[in-house]
Amino acid sequence: MNRYDAIVLGAGGIGSAALYHLARRGVHVVGIDRFNPPHDRGSSHGQTRVIRQAYFEHPDYVPLLVESYRGWRELEHVANRKLFDHVGLIQAGPADGVVVPGVSRAAAMHGLAVEQLTAGEVRRRWPGLSVPDELCGVFEPNAGYLLVEDCVRAHLDAASAASAQLLIETEVASWTADSREVRVRTSRGNISADRLIITAGAWAGRLLADLNVPLTVRRKSLFWFATDSAEYDVSRGFPVYLFELPTGVFYGFPKLDERGVKFAEHSGGRIVVNPLEVDRSIDPDEQHRLVNVLATHLPGVSSNVTDHSVCLYTMSPDENFIVDRHPYHANVVFAAGLSGHGFKFAPVLGKTLADLALDDGTDLPIQFLSHKRFEL
Ligand SMILES: Cc1cc2nc3c(=O)[nH]c(=O)nc-3n(C[C@H](O)[C@H](O)[C@H](O)COP(=O)(O)OP(=O)(O)OC[C@H]3O[C@@H](n4cnc5c(N)ncnc54)[C@H](O)[C@@H]3O)c2cc1C
Repeated sequence: MNRYDAIVLGAGGIGSAALYHLARRGVHVVGIDRFNPPHDRGSSHGQTRVIRQAYFEHPDYVPLLVESYRGWRELEHVANRKLFDHVGLIQAGPADGVVVPGVSRAAAMHGLAVEQLTAGEVRRRWPGLSVPDELCGVFEPNAGYLLVEDCVRAHLDAASAASAQLLIETEVASWTADSREVRVRTSRGNISADRLIITAGAWAGRLLADLNVPLTVRRKSLFWFATDSAEYDVSRGFPVYLFELPTGVFYGFPKLDERGVKFAEHSGGRIVVNPLEVDRSIDPDEQHRLVNVLATHLPGVSSNVTDHSVCLYTMSPDENFIVDRHPYHANVVFAAGLSGHGFKFAPVLGKTLADLALDDGTDLPIQFLSHKRFEL
């Protein structure tokens, strides 16, 4: 049986970062993945991810994001390529909604630069966006987007340069642990190690069943829509955008290539029973919802779909991450239930998991993400 210091189960968005942070600390580590990351079967694909710091969901994420920004800069340096484009993010919604007040609160608490804008100011600054007078806007200039597959590849390359090993197209059927070691049963044989790091995305529910925290997988669709209007080009400085509307929360990216703009709905999504058997075809209702929002709020974007992809959100009960040591096994740590907003945190979660696995704990402020909040 192969023996390692640590095993990372799942080498996607977060696992690739954990592999890098473990390997750079000199740990003999192997990452195991059923597919060949970056791949399009889990949660870390589809060209881009929003990255921002003025976090409307919960201001306690901000210190983690400050560390994450540092991590992305370091990874860009190591990979010698750009992964993060700081084009800024304009978020529009009602003054008494969730998004605009939440962004303003997080920015005020942590001294982050944001600009409060009226609907008219948003329209004048970005004529491609049509924001009705009853909404207001908040612009975060230091936000932007990450190139998601390139980030995963960069973390894996940096991990392998630091001597991490990667076992791809290898399925983990089960794991066990006692006080001496962890054992993982895979489709290519058994592997043991001192520690196990579980970063299994949409498959975490089964692998962490004894936590007794329900994780719900949701099917999310990404659509690319054609546009002739140069207004939306990234080269013109068009930002990332998000709308909180009565019908849902919608977001999109500037035009990066000939496919046009990528646009999607953050809210909703059908529940997935088996992540290996997701329907990956276009859902006409989802397309219709997006086309309606585009027609009203991004009138220069056409309804012609140029590309489409299906991705998975893994929701925790309160939509905050669960990052912790396993309650029954001190040598097992995990990040799960990233609830559709975890990718931007990959460097800080990778570092946190390495700290939890190797040390008594971490200096990073992750207490609010403990699984203990779900204990009765
Ligand atoms: C459409 C969409 C848009 C999003 N937008 C944003 C955004 O704008 N900003 C943001 O920050 N976040 C966003 N997110 C969320 C973010 O992308 C995810 O939280 C993050 O990528 C999850 O990473 P992960 O490592 O947990 O999962 P994954 O990257 O899916 O990695 C899990 C890996 O584990 C492997 N695995 C699982 N089980 C096994 C097994 N038994 N054996 C072997 N391998 C196994 C899988 O093959 C997979 O590679 C979005 C997600 C989606 C789907």
